[in-house]
Amino acid sequence: MMYDSLIIGAGLSGLTSALLLARSGRRVLVLEQHAQPAPVARGFFRDGLYFDSGFHYAGGLGPKGAFRPLFRHLGLEQKLELYPFAAQGFDRLRIAATGETCSMPVGFENIKAKLGDQFPAVRGQINQYIDEIADNWSRFPYLDLDSDLTGFSLESVQGCSLSDRLQAFADYPLLQSQLSMHSLLYGFLPEAASATLNSLVAGSYYHSVHGIVGGGRALVEALLELLAEAGVQLRCGAEVATLLATSAGVTGLTLLSGEEIFAQEVIATQNPTLLPGMLPKGLLRPVYQKRLEQLRQTPSAYIVYAKSRQSLEFLRGSNLFVQPKAGIFSYAATQSLDERPFYLTAAGPKSDGGIMGLVGIVPAGYAEVSAWASAEKRRSAGYRTHKQKVGARLLKRFADSCPELAELELLELATPLTLHDYSLAPQGAIYGVGHFLGQYNPYPLTRIPGLFLSGQAIAAPGFLGAVAAGYLTSGSILGHESLRGEIRACR
Ligand SMILES: Cc1cc2nc3c(=O)[nH]c(=O)nc-3n(C[C@H](O)[C@H](O)[C@H](O)COP(=O)(O)OP(=O)(O)OC[C@H]3O[C@@H](n4cnc5c(N)ncnc54)[C@H](O)[C@@H]3O)c2cc1C
Repeated sequence: MMYDSLIIGAGLSGLTSALLLARSGRRVLVLEQHAQPAPVARGFFRDGLYFDSGFHYAGGLGPKGAFRPLFRHLGLEQKLELYPFAAQGFDRLRIAATGETCSMPVGFENIKAKLGDQFPAVRGQINQYIDEIADNWSRFPYLDLDSDLTGFSLESVQGCSLSDRLQAFADYPLLQSQLSMHSLLYGFLPEAASATLNSLVAGSYYHSVHGIVGGGRALVEALLELLAEAGVQLRCGAEVATLLATSAGVTGLTLLSGEEIFAQEVIATQNPTLLPGMLPKGLLRPVYQKRLEQLRQTPSAYIVYAKSRQSLEFLRGSNLFVQPKAGIFSYAATQSLDERPFYLTAAGPKSDGGIMGLVGIVPAGYAEVSAWASAEKRRSAGYRTHKQKVGARLLKRFADSCPELAELELLELATPLTLHDYSLAPQGAIYGVGHFLGQYNPYPLTRIPGLFLSGQAIAAPGFLGAVAAGYLTSGSILGHESLRGEIRACR
């Protein structure tokens, strides 16, 4: 069968693109290397508990949030139930050295009031800083439906760094901590992130914060239902090896099995550094190929999935960031596990409603586990021992920093190798290619007719970023104005 559109990758951006293209009348096939669709976001069950893997909460979905019209336009609003995170503290910060804990409330005005009361000497500067974020967070293609998209430039990689912007608060390290902790949500240091990228990611959460009942699994199932209704076909365990293309355009692709599938357009949502290796040599202009290959990846992580004998109610609708000492968030691959910041979130409630599961995310480098990498994905006893050691050490670290976590039992530990297996991202990059300050961002359009890029590397990380990428790419194919017109009708 000849398809109109082939989509490489059934992540959140691939599923979004597939839905939009199929609704325009195209015959769409999505190809996913993993055995299950949306392997990053779909979560899993262990020991009777549901654990989210790549989706815990979303920003900007409140009634007037800029993400809401996209959520409605996709059809997700009708299929999913959202629940608000704690208004007085959707994210909290604890400084391990001193035990100080602060809460970030929901809403720009509430944040200004809270931080202003905490740091009255710089209330005016805080107000100005939060106003900047409130003005800027939704100035992003497809969140701002009126922006000029001709040759759009994603400003997230321009301007001053978050670190530089926070120098205004150099005398208030605890304030700097609170204003930089969300760098963990895009995966790299405030000195390498633009203040604009931080506005988009942190600002969406400052605006409004929601979880989805049923977590990432419910999100993925809802998307799959919508895809089925739109007639999209999906094949898992189907790794794309090469693209069939000449300078005249794309004609299809080849799977690892050798099977060839033909179509007039291909949307590549995988990590873009992998694209050049899938194309015939010499097809990409050398400068473009080099740019793609040199895109920097975000660091990876260890992710602890644990159950607790005591209730973890303190994590209901409220995540906890832990930083060793106050100041702008930082992390280096050379740091010991005990010196790194980490991020804790609740696993899905048990059927009786109590929270007994924990997900803990700790930055890590690929080099920490690369010795155990193998093409067959078979791991040795040495790797299992390493995982046990790291898991035990992190549980102790969590308990030392948070007395509420004294009775944890490790169920699973994901490592950079796990993250690589689930997304094929080089070095198990937690959010794929990062939007580092000054780095070229790939666009949806390429010079090869019929070949388009999508995915978090195109727009931004996260559910919001992946969906925005799906719209940007689909709009590049279908026409931005008609697509934006449809979304305007959903406001
Ligand atoms: C631990 C963790 C926690 C997170 N928490 C949150 C959160 O709370 N809120 C939030 O908004 N975001 C969160 N995110 C980020 C969010 O999950 C991602 O930004 C988003 O899922 C990226 O979607 P994507 O489609 O761009 O990429 P991916 O999900 O990586 O999709 C790309 C797909 O392509 C497939 N693929 C790659 N190569 C090939 C090939 N050759 N052939 C076929 N298939 C291929 C991969 O297997 C993958 O499924 C989290 C991420 C992680 C890892």
